[in-house]
Amino acid sequence: MSKAVQSKQVHLTGLTPDELTELIADLGEPAYRARQIFAALHRRRLRSFEEMTDLSKELRAALAERATAATLTVESRYISEDGTRRYLMKTHDGLPVETVFIPEERRDTICFSSQSGCPLQCSFCLTAKLGLLRTLTAGEIVEQIIIALNDAYGVGAKTPRGTNLVAMGAGEPFLAFEPLMKALRIMAEPTGLYIVPNRVTVSTAGIVPRIRELATIAARPHLAVSLAAPTDELRDELMPINKKWPLDELLDACKEFEQSLKPGERFTFEYVLLDGVNDRDEHARQLANLLNRHQLRAKVNLIPHNPAEGLPYRPSSPERIESFKRILAAKGVRAFVRRPRGRDIYAACGQLAARRNVNNLNAPALHQTG
Ligand code: SAH
Repeated sequence: MSKAVQSKQVHLTGLTPDELTELIADLGEPAYRARQIFAALHRRRLRSFEEMTDLSKELRAALAERATAATLTVESRYISEDGTRRYLMKTHDGLPVETVFIPEERRDTICFSSQSGCPLQCSFCLTAKLGLLRTLTAGEIVEQIIIALNDAYGVGAKTPRGTNLVAMGAGEPFLAFEPLMKALRIMAEPTGLYIVPNRVTVSTAGIVPRIRELATIAARPHLAVSLAAPTDELRDELMPINKKWPLDELLDACKEFEQSLKPGERFTFEYVLLDGVNDRDEHARQLANLLNRHQLRAKVNLIPHNPAEGLPYRPSSPERIESFKRILAAKGVRAFVRRPRGRDIYAACGQLAARRNVNNLNAPALHQTG
């Protein structure tokens, strides 16, 4: 099928149950068919109409004419020595999308992308080198999760209750706000994936109006805000988005968000540590003072820099990281050091740039259907 035709088709994975019911009604079919198809797509995680053998051949043919169950194709899967898996996929219009599955002892995490490439020019992030290719659709976001779940647990197999999602892949999730929120609504459906917002964390570089908007939303994911610098001067350099929304404005919005937190909700800061650039004792003191001045109690996740060819930084030494953490703690700021995962296959934070020449393309069969 030509690309032009395919892109005009409705992508079913991106439809809410109501939207699916409407489409099915248009085909002259009763509403229960829509429920059947929604379950096939999201609970059974089937990626082609042929596999939906509980539907008549005629209905499957009618669906195939107007709609598609799957638009992403998996180009490669890379498996790290620590078990992390990176999927390099392609959209129907040929753009790269990357998703990472991170196995952990207590619970697994799926890290998904909200955009192909990214428009923000953070100097320490490899995704920035791609520029923005396009914002992903709700269906493309949901599909990433379906592909990763099927590969990790088997097609349609029950998802372990603890599996979490993080919007920390390529792109700025708050510049993909509508498709992201729609994807979260679809994924929360009890008859589908049933992954509720409480199991999702969205990380932003600091799109202030969206932080304020999220503060007003009831069913929402956890929030993480990437700081990377304790002063405007340094943050302007590392994260140019800071010129639009400088630290004081950003932290005011964070305070508003923190005040809206309900029991069980989490709000955290992320701080990537770059050797000699933002990891000195002085930076730790400035960071603690800044958060204290804004009366923010959120904890700080310290992310050791994931180096990559083409990035001008080195990771801080473990002693430096410890010292940074101790200074924060002494000033009452809780800090945790994030363990890097999947660095060897370009799957770690800031390493997603559709890298292909990674040497450990691993074997076991990929559960890809459709
Ligand atoms: N655009 C969003 C989400 C994607 S990045 C954001 O900026 O929050 C997820 C996290 O990875 C961010 O905290 C970011 O600062 C961090 N990061 C980016 N490049 C990195 C690198 N090379 N090493 C370690 N962390 C990095």
